[in-house]
Amino acid sequence: MTTQADTMEKIVALCRRRGFIFGSSEIYGGIGGFWDYGPLGTELKRNIKEAWWNDMVRNPPVGPNGTEFQMVGVDCSIIMNPKVWEASGHVGGFSDPMVACRAEGCKRLFRDDKVFLVGFIPVGDDPQREEAFEEIQQLREQDPTKARALARQAELNDPPVYLAVEADSEESAKIEISYDSLSNTQKRRITPPFQHVAYPLSRKPSGWGPPPCPACGTRGSLTEPRQFNLMLQTHIGALQDVASLAYLRPETAQGIFANFKNVIDTSRVKLPLGIAQIGKAFRNEINPRNYTFRSREFEQYEIEFFCHPSEAPMWYEFWRDVRHKWYVDLGLQSEKLRLREHEGDELAHYAKSCADVEYDFPFGLSELEGIANRTDFDLKAHIEKSGKDLSYFDDQRKERYVPYVIEPSGGVDRSVLAFITEAYTVDENRASPELMMFHPRLSPIKAAVFPLVAKDGLPEIAEPIYREVKKRFPCQYDAKQSIGKRYARMDEAGTPFCFTIDGQTKEDGTVTVRDRNDASQIRIDKSRCVEYLHDKLSL
Ligand code: ATP
Repeated sequence: MTTQADTMEKIVALCRRRGFIFGSSEIYGGIGGFWDYGPLGTELKRNIKEAWWNDMVRNPPVGPNGTEFQMVGVDCSIIMNPKVWEASGHVGGFSDPMVACRAEGCKRLFRDDKVFLVGFIPVGDDPQREEAFEEIQQLREQDPTKARALARQAELNDPPVYLAVEADSEESAKIEISYDSLSNTQKRRITPPFQHVAYPLSRKPSGWGPPPCPACGTRGSLTEPRQFNLMLQTHIGALQDVASLAYLRPETAQGIFANFKNVIDTSRVKLPLGIAQIGKAFRNEINPRNYTFRSREFEQYEIEFFCHPSEAPMWYEFWRDVRHKWYVDLGLQSEKLRLREHEGDELAHYAKSCADVEYDFPFGLSELEGIANRTDFDLKAHIEKSGKDLSYFDDQRKERYVPYVIEPSGGVDRSVLAFITEAYTVDENRASPELMMFHPRLSPIKAAVFPLVAKDGLPEIAEPIYREVKKRFPCQYDAKQSIGKRYARMDEAGTPFCFTIDGQTKEDGTVTVRDRNDASQIRIDKSRCVEYLHDKLSL
């Protein structure tokens, strides 16, 4: 049986083997939380960013009730005046709760809210057993000896078998620790039927005893949580003192807020207005995990959409739905995508509403992007800290106000991983059973040109076709190995079409076009290759 963990391992192996993603500085043993994109990954990532820029900035969808609005871009520096991060609240509050394992030889650090206890609670449809279980829960604190005796009598394990794991949600924790993943000794301690449960560390059920370390398993070795600031620091200039301290930006958003007035004053734009940015962000994550999903250096695509406060709820709903649809249109199956509205107690203190676009990765449903109504929190914070007037005069409403902001904030690398996961397909009937079914807009290579054999005058016909196609589309030429192997390589790269020049080309001027999706082949005139791609890829 192929498990989700197996699937992830296979995806990681294919990405390494075919040059999508490498570990950073691998020749020196790598560095945790940093990744490099190889030739195919670089093209894929560029295509994703270009699709975003094109669909959101250059040619955004029409607003609610046909409202037109403007979108412009900025490209800000990674290091900004540290006062920006004081105003935004990052210096004081951008931290995660951290716990450490005290056990000798482990000493690992974990993010407290990402450690889950996964347990197997014996319950079933036997009312007597259920009753005994309830009684044991109540007795555990008051009379542990009696609780244990009762558990033995009812053949229930008490406390239930539970382990600790690092995960992004209760759901992912249960995927990581399933019944099948337990050792035989652990399985013997669980009397079926059982209930499979997961609790965050902070909500450990009473009576479960000290939590084990997710890495070494030592019980009671975890410290109490303490706050850990996620901003990466550096120093500017020759002296390394407090005055030269600076931060690598933990998000691209603040560059947009800091330039709001510059854009308004120089660009003949009016509200509602979106300012977009794609760029690197850095977070000193306590434990980077799940391949590139949680990295310490990553790219974000963010929009700060400025509008009149009364229209913010309307624009929030608009952007939430636009961003969800964008992922579906680019090929993420809608049943694997979830749009999840945050509950009141989950909302950040500055946000009025917030939704996450989540994708069902092999390691569980996890956030791709957050869309939030950030109100006027950021602009007001910068007005106060900088003393500059960042309000806006609306000449249609004849009103001066501090705009509200809707922020769709996505992670490029998480999108790359989601599109790779979605594209990864296994078809045992093919010469190479693994292929990448990318949406054609995202495919790193759009076409390949192959002479069937590297002789008999076929390369002489194939090379001019290749030169013509590559002027318009990323294209590869390959004359070596068997044709089956060459198709298989292109399937693994996710290339939608391959043109093959064979003996018949010399007779009637036609070439075969092979379609990656179903491996079907048709013949077209060799002069029509570019036109064919143009029609099929509708780029
Ligand atoms: P998480 O809860 O997963 O740590 P977050 O809610 O803190 O994420 P935001 O601050 O909302 O994330 O950042 C916006 C987007 O940036 C996220 O939706 C995600 O796609 C991306 N992102 C954030 N942190 C990372 C990271 N460590 N590695 C890769 N992408 C990230």
